[in-house]
Amino acid sequence: MAEKVLVVGSGGREHALAWKLAQSPHVQQVLVAPGNAGTAKCGKIRNSEVSVSNHSILAQYCKDHHVGLVVVGPEVPLAADIVTDLTGADVPCFGPVAEAAKLESSKSFAKAFMERHNIPTARYGSFTNPEDACRFIRMADFPALVVKASGLAAGKGVIVARDQDEACQAVMDIMKDGAFGSAGETVVVEELLEGEEVSCLCFSDGINVYPMPPAQDHKRLQDGDQGPNTGGMGAYCPTPQVSKELLQVIRETVLQKTVDGMRKEGVHYVGVLYAGMMLTKQGPKVLEFNCRFGDPECQVLMPLLKSDLYEVIWNILDGKLQSHPPEWHQDSSAVTVVMASNGYPGSYKKGVEITGLSQVEDMGLQVFHAGTALKEGGGLVSSGGRVLTVTAVRSSLEVALEAANQGVAAVGFPGAVYRRDIDGIKTQPEHTAHGLTYKD
Ligand code: AMP
Repeated sequence: MAEKVLVVGSGGREHALAWKLAQSPHVQQVLVAPGNAGTAKCGKIRNSEVSVSNHSILAQYCKDHHVGLVVVGPEVPLAADIVTDLTGADVPCFGPVAEAAKLESSKSFAKAFMERHNIPTARYGSFTNPEDACRFIRMADFPALVVKASGLAAGKGVIVARDQDEACQAVMDIMKDGAFGSAGETVVVEELLEGEEVSCLCFSDGINVYPMPPAQDHKRLQDGDQGPNTGGMGAYCPTPQVSKELLQVIRETVLQKTVDGMRKEGVHYVGVLYAGMMLTKQGPKVLEFNCRFGDPECQVLMPLLKSDLYEVIWNILDGKLQSHPPEWHQDSSAVTVVMASNGYPGSYKKGVEITGLSQVEDMGLQVFHAGTALKEGGGLVSSGGRVLTVTAVRSSLEVALEAANQGVAAVGFPGAVYRRDIDGIKTQPEHTAHGLTYKD
């Protein structure tokens, strides 16, 4: 019998997960809590108003509504142990338990874990006292440093410092002035790594890892990797930066070692493991772990997944993944371009009207919504920083980028900010001001 699945979250990542799950013949309906305008009513997909922070209410809701599987998008509910609470209430839930998700929710735990298991990463120190952190900075023999709040800070808790004074100032901002609240009670200070950054994700059943095609996010706001850091302005996949051989090295020295290390410490890492890697001259090194799909990486990975996501998840939960490994579309590339509100990642106006999305879909492209809302009386408006992503799947990266850029051009969204170089090829935007590409 076809089943109901509930996806927790409200971003482009969750729209992509719901879109892929809805394609499964095993799935009757996908509920997204809280969801966005794109998941409000679209084929089998609907939004749900159930509270996802109260796990006992959520478990009861799942039972009352015959939800047979919960898939968790973001890190915050995973850190709050939604997986243990729901599975304990007999509601199957896909994702790592909080103890495993500590790889993301505590950078100081992740660094010590990597040290214990000999997983390549930047040299570091971890501190609960700002004076000790500054002493370490003054004595460090690496010239450039990165200061990180150890806890979850919505991707904002990392400061790349140009010199020791700036690094010490960052420590003070985080620890004394509470720039990131309790996430900054512990700080990690580490060596600045140089190289190309790539996202290597895998499915894990707690024993084996199944790498996904490697992707590359674009964190900076503007073309040519200029401007402030953001949640991610676009991604492409697979990235030629990671050859088959290199992916094998990352699989053995990072992904498998992490899942093995967790198991040796008594924890089964079940779910998606994301290693943010820096490809340095000395080899690939871990920048960070995430315990879930990345956003926007998910918007390129889901269209490239050939297997039925619902089946992949159940094979993981039933321990049958080894005999049914996930399959990927081999001869395709995907590019996703994020359209953000004017002013993002700073303050921005909400309620800007968005039009033209059905034309974009007629072009054979996929629109995944993030910060969108339905206007009373019909129509769509922006309601967040990152508003939507346009994804193209084509035979090559170049063709996919061109298609995604054409899709973005067809979206009516005045003031929208986006990049045009998501596959790394440098293009000159048609209309720019201060290095930004704007919608007229
Ligand atoms: P994290 O949340 O730890 O991944 O850091 C966010 C971003 O900061 C990364 O995606 C990198 O662009 C940058 N970053 C973090 N750690 C380092 C490092 N050790 N060296 C250079 N860049 C870093």
